[in-house]
Amino acid sequence: MRAARLHGIRDLRVEDVPDPVPAPGEVLLAVKAVGVCGSDLHHYLEGSIGAIHSPEPFVLGHEFAATVLEGGSLPPGTLVAVDPNRSCGACEWCRDGHTNLCPDVRFAGVPPFPGALAEFTSARFDQLVPLPDGFDAETGALLEPLGVAIHALDLARLRPMASVAVLGLGPIGLLLLQVARECGAGRIVAVDPLAYRRALAAELGADAVAATAAGVSEATAGRGVDVVLEATNSPDGPQHAAEAVRVGGLVVLVGIPTGNRFTLDAALVRRKGVTIKMSRRMRHVYPRAIAMVAAGRVRLAPLATHRFALDGAPAAFELQAEYRDGVVKSVVLPSGDG
Ligand SMILES: [Zn+2]
Ligand SMILES: [Zn+2]
Repeated sequence: MRAARLHGIRDLRVEDVPDPVPAPGEVLLAVKAVGVCGSDLHHYLEGSIGAIHSPEPFVLGHEFAATVLEGGSLPPGTLVAVDPNRSCGACEWCRDGHTNLCPDVRFAGVPPFPGALAEFTSARFDQLVPLPDGFDAETGALLEPLGVAIHALDLARLRPMASVAVLGLGPIGLLLLQVARECGAGRIVAVDPLAYRRALAAELGADAVAATAAGVSEATAGRGVDVVLEATNSPDGPQHAAEAVRVGGLVVLVGIPTGNRFTLDAALVRRKGVTIKMSRRMRHVYPRAIAMVAAGRVRLAPLATHRFALDGAPAAFELQAEYRDGVVKSVVLPSGDG
């Protein structure tokens, strides 16, 4: 089969590789749509994410939908989203419901476990999420980042009409904005240095937009917002979140900083008595993600700005790395024959 493999920094190649051989309990899948994620870009641009070095070559891709080819109890041809998080199910944290924190997780597209930027892949049966009628593969792939946003809002436990700032208007930020609205947020201030992303945030429901976090202070007459949802890739993101939040407010950190370090003025967060929560992937949120889309409570289509065949995966990554051409999210369609 063909697969897009990362051979080094900014070196993604589409080449022939052996077909996957499903292990017992696994299902063979034809990959239909894969979203390019900001976390994939850390591997692409830095050769690592957090403390995890990218081996070479390596297949990225964890936001995906596929059709069943063989194995399991779903009929062949069933369109499914695939939960990339294959937790062990047996450890203390899994048993307590924190499957997103499992130390023995096998997460598709995070080394050493290959991802979905290929014609075929395999997954354990319980990772498959059959999609309702009316859902296409692209929507199925975008359920993963939507799930990340839902999990972050689960942590935020917004009070009705709480004021919110979203820092970073990539796909996750634009989903946080929409899910926060559904959770009863009051005024939402959306922040990003890129004008086209601010414009999209306004279209998707932001009450105010700003190019920098200082704009949050201006938009709230110096008070700051009740909750900041931080979804940038900047080491300064947490510091900006601390500046934008009100006294006694909450910051939820969702973004992954370039270089695996972030800045935070200790005196500032101490004096304000800020609560900081780290949001890590998601738990079992696919059913709610599907329900939100089915009910029209969230718009995914405006986020998928560009589409590529598998051979175009290198171009998709370059486009996204350079923020060219109004890109929000690129979607790679490895086998487009339905
Ligand atoms: Zn992702
Ligand atoms: Zn576990």
